[in-house]
Parts: sequence; structure tokens; C-alpha cells
Amino acid sequence: MNAISYNRVKIIATAGPACESEDVLRELIEAGVDVIRLNLSHGNWATHRQVIDRVRRLNLQLGTHIALLADLQGPKMRIGKLDQPIPIRAGDVVIFSTKPTNGAIPVEYETLAQDVEPGDIVLVEDGRVRLRVLETDKRSSVRLQVIAGDRIGSRKGINLPGRPISLPTLSDKDWEDLLEVIRQELDWVAISFVRYPSDIQMVRQMLRRFGSSTRIMAKIERPEALANLEEIIQLSDGVMVARGDLGVEIPVEEVPFWQKRIVRTCNILGKPVVVATQMLESMIQNPSPTRAEVTDVANAVLDGADAVMLSGETSVGAYPVEAVRQMQRILRQAEADLQIYRLSGQPSPTSPTYHSDAVCWTACTLASEVGARALVGLTYSGYTAFQLARWRPQTDIFIFTPNPRILGGLSLLWGVRAYYYRRKEGTYDTIQDVLHILKDLGHVSHGDTVIFTVSMPLRARLRTNTLYISRVP
Ligand code: PEP
Repeated sequence: MNAISYNRVKIIATAGPACESEDVLRELIEAGVDVIRLNLSHGNWATHRQVIDRVRRLNLQLGTHIALLADLQGPKMRIGKLDQPIPIRAGDVVIFSTKPTNGAIPVEYETLAQDVEPGDIVLVEDGRVRLRVLETDKRSSVRLQVIAGDRIGSRKGINLPGRPISLPTLSDKDWEDLLEVIRQELDWVAISFVRYPSDIQMVRQMLRRFGSSTRIMAKIERPEALANLEEIIQLSDGVMVARGDLGVEIPVEEVPFWQKRIVRTCNILGKPVVVATQMLESMIQNPSPTRAEVTDVANAVLDGADAVMLSGETSVGAYPVEAVRQMQRILRQAEADLQIYRLSGQPSPTSPTYHSDAVCWTACTLASEVGARALVGLTYSGYTAFQLARWRPQTDIFIFTPNPRILGGLSLLWGVRAYYYRRKEGTYDTIQDVLHILKDLGHVSHGDTVIFTVSMPLRARLRTNTLYISRVP
């Protein structure tokens, strides 16, 4: 078995035809992937289930806890099914219709005719095609003039930059997919095109109703989400800067500044944040990235990202494993820069979890003060893992949990390595046992200082309330 690469900043790889076989998935994991993303805009559950089974089998074989992230499609706004792309030229007039007749182009976007006004800009395929609305019948059809673009392809996405859309954030398909996500006990679910805090609350209610431990990731890609940013971040377990759609919905030159602002807000609020889309885009076709792409990935790390994501590079690209290896090398280099290890802010005395947060913050500060080799969190809910990761300690973080349902989810967090562990009866025995395990795994050696955060009594499953400093025997 090859050694598995480990980085503090985690790598998310999107599954797709280029990497779905068990052999390629194994290579991705060995190259450093921490999370596999199922893009529910494509494929079907028969294929997704195969990927889920393969990843879980590989986890057992390799001793890893690779997380599974399901990415909901979001409101259906796309061109309908076409036998072949329709050629177009600037100046052409076309009709988009939900009830197409006589040469109109079919669209799967029920309220398009109600959502647009003459003069509005409509984009297809992330802006590859640009059209202006001439007329709408406010029922089913819209007449548009092509401004730019050479073809309209089957099932390509439609965006109305800056225009509110009247469709609900979660479609019927999304609710059905969410049920399957719950049934499959996936680690994370990403909600596309989040607009309002209530979008997150509705999904949270559904997860609670089924006693699910799936965590929620809010994809920030709509102007409404930017307007409600803090509240959406507070309600979510994690956040994705979905730069693909964001760069279509707002002027693309604003994206870098929003990326920094979203990442900074997540860092301050202690929520994991993913930077996504076009990170190594040219590697879809080429075996090596551009200098600009490499710089973009490194900058995401310096901004404070917990994870970076590959989309087409791994799902349909010609070099999926090389893309992950390249990503891993960039992360390794960026992690050598000490500015990423910074304590952003302090625990908030007004937070309901202030005491636990302060214990974790103190553990990180103490680890740096005494030059600890490892920070260990013993946790049932996983809360400690989020708290230790948020302060970005230079000391390695190890999480031990008796709760197998949270193990995968923690793989997305900055710096966290999680292990299944059935606690001993007493705290002292547990700590000694964990020290031996870490030593056996080669993470610490005789004489190293290790700091533990624990909740006492162990059985009570309280939040972290104890700090323990020890030396490896
Ligand atoms: C994005 O828009 O950047 C994104 C990650 O979403 P999707 O890949 O679903 O379009």
C-alpha cells in the first residue's frame, strides 16, 4: 500500500466518469483527496451509490475516513434536451419556451417568462452565450436577441445576472435527493444557490426530523446570499465559495474580493470554508497547470480556506490523478508559509458555547507556547474538532471519537485527522491509551508534549470543559 499524502488544507475531488472506477478512486485517495463530491446535477443515484460503496470499501481497506459530499442541483434553470447544439450568431433572434413549438428552444425553467423584463441580460453556459430579452409573454415564452456566442447546447445552465428568481431554492428533485442523502448517511450536503437563512433552516429541520448527522454546506453563488452572508454562515456547518456561478451572477472582477470576504467571515465565525471551481481548470486537458492557477490555489490557502475543490479536473478531465498530485504539491508549499498559522480573533464571551470555545482556544495557544507535538480532542459530537481547527494551530490535530457517524465529516476540516476510538472508563486511562496509539502510529515519540481537550465526566457527553497537558511515556 502506498503512503497517503496528508495536508492541513483538504482536497475535495468531484466524482465523474474520469475517476469513478475503484482503481482511480484509490489513486485519488493515495494522492491526497480527503472528500469525494457527488454532483447531483449530473448522473443518477445508481451511479452515485456505486461511488459511495467504492469509497466506503476503500476507507476500510486503506484505513481512511474519506468524506462524501452530495451537492444538490438547486433550482432548475437550464436549456432543455436538444438532439444537437443550435448554432447562433450575434444579432439572431431566438425564442426560449417552456412549451416549445415551431423552432422555439426548450427551457427547463418554469418561471423564466415571469422572471424577466425586456432589456434584461440572460446568460447560458456560464456566460458563454449572452442574450438580451426583447419581449416576454409572461407565461411561457421569451424572445431574445443574441449578443455573443456561437451555439446553445443541450441542458446548459441559464443565469439572469442580478435578477431575483421566483423559483424556490430547493426543487422537488432536491428534496428527493436530500432524502436519499439521509438514507445513505452521507457526511455533507451542499445546498446550491442559497439565498436566505430560511433555506438552511428548512434543510436543518428535515435532517433533524430524520435524526441525521449529515452536515450542511451553504454554496455562496447568489447576490441574495452575499446580502445575508453572516446569518447564512452562522446557520451552516460549512460554506463553499462557488466561484463558477458567483462569477456569472455578479461582475466577475468582484469575485476575488468576495472570496476573501467570505473566507475571512468564515474564519472569524469558526466555520470551515471551501474555495471551489476552475482551480486547475487547464488540467482538464493538460498534464500541468498554468502559473495563474497554481497561484490561485496558493492564494486560497493564504486567504484561510479549509479546503480547495476540483470539479471538471477530476470528474471529466484527462488527468484526474495528476490534478490531485499537483494540488497536493501546491498545498504542501503553501503550508510552509507561517502566515497561515494564525489565531484569527478570540472566543466570543457572548457565545452560548463560550466556555468550550475558550478551552479549545487556550489549548491551541498553550500548544504553541510549550511547543507541543500534538493536540488531541476527545469528542462525541465533533464540536471540538471544529473548534481546534478554527484557530489554525501549527501543532498537529488528532480527533478521537466513539461516534463512527461523524468520522467522515471531520475530514473536511483544516488540519484534522480523526480516529474511531472506544473510550476507557476513566479519563486518565483514556489519555494514556491515546498516547500509546499516537506513538504506535508514529505521530509522537517518547518525551513529546501532547495537549488534550476532554469533556468530563467522559460518559456525560458534555462540551469540552477540560485541558490536560502530558508527555509521551
Ligand atoms: C460553482 O458554481 O462554482 C459550483 C461549485 O457549483 P456547480 O459546480 O454545481 O455549478
